[in-house]
Amino acid sequence: MRSFTMTRIIIKNLLSGPATLMYPKKKRAFTAITRGRVATDIQKCIFCGMCGKRCPTYAITVTKDCKEWQIDRLKCCACNLCVEICPVKCLSMENQYAPATTDKAGGIVTVKLEGATSGT
Ligand code: SF4
Ligand code: SF4
Repeated sequence: MRSFTMTRIIIKNLLSGPATLMYPKKKRAFTAITRGRVATDIQKCIFCGMCGKRCPTYAITVTKDCKEWQIDRLKCCACNLCVEICPVKCLSMENQYAPATTDKAGGIVTVKLEGATSGT
């Protein structure tokens, strides 16, 4: 009975193909509740730093003095906690993925209040 179940699972997996996609060549379709990447409306930000303190992966850095908000997208696990905790609701989840990169610094995005932006 056990070997029959195992054989059934093996055959099913062989026929259904891999569950993963060859990102970025192939992208999974977004749904209404897909968590893509964190975006900020910097004009509303009060630089309280709560998003950075709440982030479980330390992906967000807020520098109040230079009015700068930074995220390392390679560290972000898309948990949505920063979006929920922001007191002025200036963070949101965009329905798109962060661009693929082979560089560790390639996921860092810096947004300044003046509107100066580096990264994507
Ligand atoms: S929690 Fe919101 S207002 Fe506070 S620093 Fe983060 S993005 Fe800005
Ligand atoms: S979504 Fe989660 S992991 Fe990503 S920056 Fe926000 S709190 Fe951090």
